[in-house]
Amino acid sequence: MPTLKFAVLPGDYIGPEVMTEALRVLAHVAQQEGLTLDYKIADVGGAGIDNHGKALPDSTVKLCEESDAILFGSVGGPKWEKLPPKDQPERAALLPLRKHFTLFANIRPGLLYPELSDASPIKTERIPQGIDIVCIRELTGGLYFGLPKATTTLPDGDIQSVDTMVYRKSEIERITKTAIDAARARKKKLCSIDKANVLETSVLWRKTVTEYVAKNAPEIELSHMYVDNAAMQLVRSPNQFDVFVTENMFGDILSDEMACVCGSLGMLSSASLGTGKNSLGLSFGLFEPAGGTAPDIAGKGIANPCAQILSVALMLRYSFGLEKTAARIENAVRKAVTSGTRTGDIAFGKPSVGTVAMTDAIIANL
Ligand code: NAD
Repeated sequence: MPTLKFAVLPGDYIGPEVMTEALRVLAHVAQQEGLTLDYKIADVGGAGIDNHGKALPDSTVKLCEESDAILFGSVGGPKWEKLPPKDQPERAALLPLRKHFTLFANIRPGLLYPELSDASPIKTERIPQGIDIVCIRELTGGLYFGLPKATTTLPDGDIQSVDTMVYRKSEIERITKTAIDAARARKKKLCSIDKANVLETSVLWRKTVTEYVAKNAPEIELSHMYVDNAAMQLVRSPNQFDVFVTENMFGDILSDEMACVCGSLGMLSSASLGTGKNSLGLSFGLFEPAGGTAPDIAGKGIANPCAQILSVALMLRYSFGLEKTAARIENAVRKAVTSGTRTGDIAFGKPSVGTVAMTDAIIANL
């Protein structure tokens, strides 16, 4: 029987609440299918700062290195907001974790079931079929990591900050390959998003994507779009995209916009895959909900656990090769939420049930 060896990093505020539920679903599935779970839980983010003096404790990194995948909650919140920016949970935990494991590809499904079309801020008549698109975001390059990154006081007393946007051709090629794989598994349609009318990095981006697709995947229908137009098109008509690929900062912004048009942060999960393989020869990855720690609802028992549960499905698919099990979990979530069981959520308004009851409804559909 396969053993699933993974690290569990719940993080802060609603992180541990929804993680408990995701592990409950996984335990249920494991029992049904005879899978052995071998996971350890470790501190990260604010919990890392409080308990180890560091957002990404060495012991947490070691546990991740010894695992085949990372199941991540979310980090940060008001308790640590007064720390210097470089020590804050997101910057000091999530970014180094991505860098340490070269998690360069963020795959974020943008899915809104047709039955929940009313949850989108887009008029229902524009999306009668719901939304089904995929965002592929480059995750370890661009402005967030480029050097120099500094704030200095100039000789005239003024203060200047600089961030550097930098991309190598090889970085663009490897994310294009990920996007091609995703497009091949769907409608073979890929849109690359850049700002090639202004940015040098985007000129290289567009040229590299064009050449790479022409050489390696001529069957893929490739299009290009400027990021400002893409931001508009995502709201106007999201389903014109199937898979889109973009650099780090553009992807950060567009993926949140996508989450919004899909109705709910609490429903969307993401996979961050690296260059490394795990002990099974599959992708080592970090799997997490799209949203943050939702401090405003933490402790109230109303956080939507679906995104964390769907992150488990992504982990089973990408890091353990368990496609059928992943699809079973995704179907169970779909059945539970489309049959009227709705939990606390920005889009669904007043919750009909709480976090635990939502999970119970999902388990009942497994
Ligand atoms: P957020 O995503 O935590 O919350 C935005 C809104 O969405 C809130 O109203 C929240 O209640 C709601 N929401 C989010 N997830 C939900 C869920 N599962 N169920 C129901 N409602 C949900 O974003 P924010 O308020 O801007 O950030 C809060 C903290 O989270 C900040 O410290 C931020 O840095 C951090 N954050 C962490 C991550 C991460 O760990 N990957 C990502 C984003 C934000």
